[in-house]
Amino acid sequence: MGEISSRKSSKRVGNSPLEIRSSEVLLFYFIIFILGLGFGSFANVCIYRLPRGESIIRPGSHCPKCGKQIKWYDNIPLISYALLGGKCRYCGEKISLQYPLIELITAFLFLLTYRKFQGAPVTMVIFLLLILSLIIVSAIDFQTYTIPNKFTYPLIILGLFSSPFNSFLKEYSGIIISSSKQLSLIVSSFLGLLVGGGVLYLIALLGRKMFKREAMGGGDIKLISGVGAFLGVANVLWVIFLASLLGAVIGGALRITGKYKKFQEIAFGTYISLGTVLVFLFQPGLNRIYIDLISICK
Ligand SMILES: [Zn+2]
Repeated sequence: MGEISSRKSSKRVGNSPLEIRSSEVLLFYFIIFILGLGFGSFANVCIYRLPRGESIIRPGSHCPKCGKQIKWYDNIPLISYALLGGKCRYCGEKISLQYPLIELITAFLFLLTYRKFQGAPVTMVIFLLLILSLIIVSAIDFQTYTIPNKFTYPLIILGLFSSPFNSFLKEYSGIIISSSKQLSLIVSSFLGLLVGGGVLYLIALLGRKMFKREAMGGGDIKLISGVGAFLGVANVLWVIFLASLLGAVIGGALRITGKYKKFQEIAFGTYISLGTVLVFLFQPGLNRIYIDLISICK
């Protein structure tokens, strides 16, 4: 006993300020992760109900098969799914793996966003909202090939109105047009919106002329406009490039393996979301790669 207590006390003495800080950091990561799971659970409700035209507030969660109300203890992110073995408590209907998956993805992206913007809390909140919207939009687009205006219009408005406080925009895509920093940021955001939407609109127009079919929907154009308002011109071009690349590679692979028919629509909104997350997490790395490539080509 004596030895244990002495070891305990020596450990306490040995706690350097650095150790205390790292345990605080871990606690914050844990809180953000739990918060992410909770918002992921909310995302699941939106993903299921919005395309069906149901309210996201009422009624409370219920099993789609037996209609029984789901009790709070059966509705805890990840844990309830594991405890119930992925089945409804009452009728045994399988619960889609999508539920814990969306919760986990949201929690991890919340963690990464928190890490990225630790020094800029307002920008962090702006990007957490963007992330949550993108998760909901991309899952709905993946399943139904539509992007609800309910999300794209608010995204455009939020992107524009938050631009004066958006430190990411300031750092990586800000254009100085006047001595007023705020005005410059609003203009940068607006240009991102215009160029993002404009490029996709041109691609859509070209696709219609060349292939005589709808290559890009209006929802995609509104979504990239919203993303442009958050990220600015330079970055929205990165998003379009990465989304097209991912769409071609993943869509192509799905076609080769026979999972997709030849002219099946691809859910471009899902790729736009994926590209957006990559761009804001990896900047300024992408700009550095670009500058390196340019200097090699010279
Ligand atoms: Zn049931």
